[in-house]
Amino acid sequence: MLPVNELFETVQGEATFTGMPSMFVRLQRCDVGCPWCDTKYTWEMDPAQVVTLADIVSKTVTSPAYASVTVDQLILTLRPSRSRHLVLTGGEPCMYDLTELSRRMIAAGWTVQVETSGTEEIRIDPRAWVTVSPKLHMPGGRTFRADAWQRANEIKMPVGKPADVETLKRCIEHYGPALVWLQPLSMSRKATELCMDAARRNGWRISIQTHKYLGVR
Ligand code: SF4
Repeated sequence: MLPVNELFETVQGEATFTGMPSMFVRLQRCDVGCPWCDTKYTWEMDPAQVVTLADIVSKTVTSPAYASVTVDQLILTLRPSRSRHLVLTGGEPCMYDLTELSRRMIAAGWTVQVETSGTEEIRIDPRAWVTVSPKLHMPGGRTFRADAWQRANEIKMPVGKPADVETLKRCIEHYGPALVWLQPLSMSRKATELCMDAARRNGWRISIQTHKYLGVR
């Protein structure tokens, strides 16, 4: 069973798949505790918040409500979509084994992407695209995993202060080179300028949350 908090069609607004029409499935639960998290409603799994999958599909406002669904139910719900790119996000989606879902969706002609903090083992089809957004030294006390960095197809690093850039450099020294996207925290002017400077100096890229400019989720 997978606890689904949101299921909606939109455009992937970040990093390599920017502009790709996508189905987003947001899974419930995360224990990383990032202070700036904009999906805090996904952190806890409260059985009193269980609703039906139909409720989730018709959800229009964010809330801690979620539906426990089987992989079969999820695939049946996703199948009629015109988008053929599935984004598994959270919460922390890698708290769950995503292997069967990703394998079956890829077999049906979809591309599959997961967005993870790198604090959990990544259990997903080897053909899936893995976006790791390293969360280090967060209040939840979770440890970042070397195998997450090594599995990543891209690193999407939230940057709000110079120390974040230094942390990223240390990660590259420690874990190896990667395709890096810098994500200015809260899209603030200060964070954006910092990212611009770091991207120029290090051959990295900047991931702009383009879905926010489009006015979509
Ligand atoms: S890992 Fe993601 S969902 Fe979890 S607290 Fe951090 S930003 Fe929020």
